[in-house]
Amino acid sequence: MLLHADPHSAFVFGADVGEAYITTAIFGLTLERLATRTTEFSGRRIEPAEVGQVIARHVEELLAETGTPRSRVIGLGLGVPGVVEHPIALDAVVHAEVIGWESATFDWLEAELGFPLLIDNGAKTTTQAEAWYGSARDTQHAVVALLGDGAGAGIITNGRLYRGASSSAGEWGHTKISLDGPLCRCGSVGCVESIVGASAVLRAWTGGDEFAGRETQGVNALLIASRTGDVDAVVVMKDLIEHLGLALSNLVNLYNPEKIIVGGWFGDLIIRDHLEELRAAVRRFSLKQPGEQVTVERSQLGVDAVSLGAATLPIDRFIETGLVHSHV
Ligand SMILES: [Zn+2]
Repeated sequence: MLLHADPHSAFVFGADVGEAYITTAIFGLTLERLATRTTEFSGRRIEPAEVGQVIARHVEELLAETGTPRSRVIGLGLGVPGVVEHPIALDAVVHAEVIGWESATFDWLEAELGFPLLIDNGAKTTTQAEAWYGSARDTQHAVVALLGDGAGAGIITNGRLYRGASSSAGEWGHTKISLDGPLCRCGSVGCVESIVGASAVLRAWTGGDEFAGRETQGVNALLIASRTGDVDAVVVMKDLIEHLGLALSNLVNLYNPEKIIVGGWFGDLIIRDHLEELRAAVRRFSLKQPGEQVTVERSQLGVDAVSLGAATLPIDRFIETGLVHSHV
């Protein structure tokens, strides 16, 4: 229990800008989820202005649905793809070239909402949720690896989220595991996400883009084919597990985590069928000592972790501000 206040004395929003959807949820002060709204985009690119409009609409609907007065809301946390410069500050700038966002800002949205808006990278908000409520709760050293169309990671070291000089640490999806391979959305080749991301894997399976915009359906078809012994599907899955294990072993050798927690919608689907093979691949490619110590687990929080993690941002600040006030 983080706070002993009445959980319904104040409320907080968490929003997740995903690859194909925006989810906004309203939580009580102890982060129990009260209601959720989701808008899907079916794989097309969404501009920052449209994201803001959708979130503002979600907020109005959720306030009405739960009968919450706006004055009781302490803030909205927003998890976005890409690098967030000055995260959790009023001058946050989002650099997400892979979805066409260059130096996007959201201060206008804060003015429209009428309460504080705090932004951070979605992998980092998810990692925060895993550290507060999920599989990383009881460890000081963990890696949260998220796999969807893209790939990202959050690194917890000595119990704290590792950010780096300008908060871009954890861009694991664009670390390289090959000198060639398909072109990545970042303009480079050999990136982790261009090899183990959902679209990349589906392209390797079908040889085309027939599942573009309906990747979840494609991945389910691939997993069913693989389970029933379809030779092509089995080869694609084996190749995926090998490369994912290799990419994760680099994190093991760099950060020496106790746990690797695998999440993201694609990561979650893969690990249901292939946890043991993935564990074996991570161990095989890691140095012996850290490889034998690390455990690989499925995220307990699942895909709801991003909005939950985003909601921790205003709570975090609320606690800090509260402490400051108590000393005045
Ligand atoms: Zn890349």
